[in-house]
Amino acid sequence: MPDKPLLSVEQALERLTADLKPVGAEAIPLVEALGRVLAEPVRASHPLPPFANSSMDGFAVRAADVQQAASDQPVQLAVVGEAAAGAEALPSVGPGQAARITTGAPIPPGADAVVPVEATDSPEPMAGQALPKQIAVGRSVAAGDYIRPAGLDVQAGSVVLEHGRVLQPQDIGLLAALGVDRPLVSRKVRVAVFSTGDEVVEVDKPLRPGKIRDSNGYMLAALLQQAGAEPLRLGIAADTPQAVEDQLNRASEARADLILTSAGVSMGAHDFVRQVIEQHGRLDFWRVNIRPGKPLVYGGYRNIPFVGLPGNPVSAWVTFYLFVAPMLDALRGAVSGGPLVVDAELVEPIESDGRESYLRAHLWRVSDGYVARLTGSQDSGVLTSLVEANALLRLPAGTLGLKAGDKVETWLIAGAGHESRHSLRRPSA
Ligand code: AMP
Ligand code: MG
Repeated sequence: MPDKPLLSVEQALERLTADLKPVGAEAIPLVEALGRVLAEPVRASHPLPPFANSSMDGFAVRAADVQQAASDQPVQLAVVGEAAAGAEALPSVGPGQAARITTGAPIPPGADAVVPVEATDSPEPMAGQALPKQIAVGRSVAAGDYIRPAGLDVQAGSVVLEHGRVLQPQDIGLLAALGVDRPLVSRKVRVAVFSTGDEVVEVDKPLRPGKIRDSNGYMLAALLQQAGAEPLRLGIAADTPQAVEDQLNRASEARADLILTSAGVSMGAHDFVRQVIEQHGRLDFWRVNIRPGKPLVYGGYRNIPFVGLPGNPVSAWVTFYLFVAPMLDALRGAVSGGPLVVDAELVEPIESDGRESYLRAHLWRVSDGYVARLTGSQDSGVLTSLVEANALLRLPAGTLGLKAGDKVETWLIAGAGHESRHSLRRPSA
């Protein structure tokens, strides 16, 4: 029998994300907000910096007093006091006067510029030094020099972070600067995850003949954590319709926002997952024109979206990356740009079967761009070539092969050590 036409990756993605509603929001302590998604725009309640302050350690002066100053013609000023960072009392600076000032201290009244300590006869560093009675200034400054005006960074009332922003460490810093101690974020998306298969046993159980350990259950929970979701691990279901249904019921009782399974979705005599979804839930589609990962079930169970990923670990990983990650973003209201994509030059020919393909590869930088090669076997059960990969090569549907030297679209794998010492270097062998 000829194969029925399959959904394209794009069509599948559209259907997977079409009906998802964002989960609710909660205010949480700022220290827990890394990686969470803002559920409202954040407006600045005050400017940053909140007051005009010095960008240098030195002396606050009146620019007009030092207009003629030069290294061979220093200007003497009387030091009337000190403006130290954090001190609330400030000296006033009159004509012919200066105040010692530290970086971040408010500009004292009367002063309109700062002379860095390097341009004076004051010894440096100034730590522990008594306040001098006077200083010689060997350089002119203009009004405003070395002063950071109030609002230089952020104007009061402006939106500093948009709704849907996935909070980064630098965002946390900005929120702290603005006194936002409990940002409103989407609550974590709760994802029930279980593996299926009579051959699958828990990680701490002995391997009896014919058994394998539950690699997918742990990997999917980790992918969920990495994506900012809360995995609800339900363990393993045997290859019977009843066992699968029991687990689906547990997922529903646990009030999951999404149910994720692996295996049991293909054509085998013991693949019951699709059948259970079809009979007791709602089946939307169950195959996509992709390699790896063609058998992919999408539907719902008791109004909870359901995704049945393929059993082969690499297929499960790739389909999570391509399909589940965008679903999670839709559920948590994240505005995400998706993975980083670069064009790379192939160093070897590769074959393909015409399905849209995602191949495990190592990408590295050369003087004029990027090059890539496969990390090894592309069998969807081979996990080590995924472990070694830092990128996926995307071959569009209809591609039957590429030659060495051809350009190929390359998706960087998030967190695959691009920042580490392995980053984008030529592999050793
Ligand atoms: P299936 O989709 O049930 O035909 O499974 C496809 C392949 O994935 C088979 O080789 C299974 O043994 C394997 N597999 C199924 N579940 C898991 C799992 N949880 N961890 C690792 N491999 C699995
Ligand atoms: Mg199976």
